[in-house]
Amino acid sequence: MNIPFHKPSITQQETDAVNECLKSGWLTMGERTFLFENKFNEYLGSKFSVSVNSGTAALHLALCNLNLKPDDEVIIPANTFTATAEAVLYFNSKPVLVDIEKETHLVDVSKIEAKINNNTKAIIPVHFGGQPADMSEILEIAEKYDLYVVEDAAHALPSKYKDKAIGTIGDVTCFSFYATKTLTTGEGGMAVTENPDWAERMRLLRVHGMTRDGWERYGATGDWEYDVIENGFKYNMTDINASIGLEQLKRVEIMYEKRKIIAEKYNEAFGNNEAFFLYEIKKDRTTSWHLYPVKLKPEALKINRDEFIRELKSRGISAGVHFIPLYRFSCYKRSGYVSDDFKNCEWVFERTFSLPIYPDLSEMEVDYIIDNVLDITKKNKR
Ligand SMILES: *Cc1c(COP(=O)(O)O)cnc(C)c1O
Repeated sequence: MNIPFHKPSITQQETDAVNECLKSGWLTMGERTFLFENKFNEYLGSKFSVSVNSGTAALHLALCNLNLKPDDEVIIPANTFTATAEAVLYFNSKPVLVDIEKETHLVDVSKIEAKINNNTKAIIPVHFGGQPADMSEILEIAEKYDLYVVEDAAHALPSKYKDKAIGTIGDVTCFSFYATKTLTTGEGGMAVTENPDWAERMRLLRVHGMTRDGWERYGATGDWEYDVIENGFKYNMTDINASIGLEQLKRVEIMYEKRKIIAEKYNEAFGNNEAFFLYEIKKDRTTSWHLYPVKLKPEALKINRDEFIRELKSRGISAGVHFIPLYRFSCYKRSGYVSDDFKNCEWVFERTFSLPIYPDLSEMEVDYIIDNVLDITKKNKR
């Protein structure tokens, strides 16, 4: 048995759609990309969806709306993928790390206010594994200190917070369509907002700051002339990627249901085991189940997290770790973050790993994973 950590769910529909696009005579951003944006809005109930070529690009463009300056600070959780902080550093602004909750791995909102000062401009909550962060509390803090809220929703399609879809809450919400995410376009991302001016600016910046994109110049009704209004980026999605996205979007709920069933099976199998802490989901929200994190209880086992992952690997099961805390990386260490400030984040990092969870994981594979996790646990009981 060889079970990869992730496998994208690709059907004949995606293959056919890409073929059709390749034969259509139009490969880059055009009608398929714009249709994908419209369908995305329709699905979420959002106003403006601006597609780009990665989730990181979506975060970058979202922050462009805030006009960040070098001394500005942006609050982010310590336990996230590097892209969240990276986007802040594009402006030479400072990512300010906040500790997380042990149970949910979400930013601990009670620790945010202590990190706010006159330079603070925004909060970027990360919906870890698909579980929405405490948005009511975060919006309240943002209101009190006049801060923007840009959501890192790379994991959160589809996720709901108090019956509202993620994508309809903060100032801008950023999704990722990277190969391992819950909807993939190969590479891709989407910045979603209710602000028409911001949507327009992000559309401009994703194609070099040009007033006319390729479709508007070379398309059937196009015009060759254009202006460059400000220095932008090359961040547009292509119609090839959008063709995949359109097919994935039709199955986004079906894929979600499949992950949910796997999560329920895992919960049932590991719930009463004294070797694990189950990942907790708060009552007023739903997770996309992008990740299934497990935490080991060191007092119950003779092996640590690294050894557990190695043991899984030797049995053909690939696990991941989400995430290596940012303050542990060389790049961020230079900024002088101290890990004593992040007790919960360290606690989680030491004992957590993520099990495979994706629509194409067969029932047999799920059973194999469960049997082996339990077997490793039994053989290494303290
Ligand atoms: C995947 C991911 C991103 C970046 O997405 P890309 O599409 O790979 O650029 C940002 N934040 C988090 C938390 C992620 O997991």
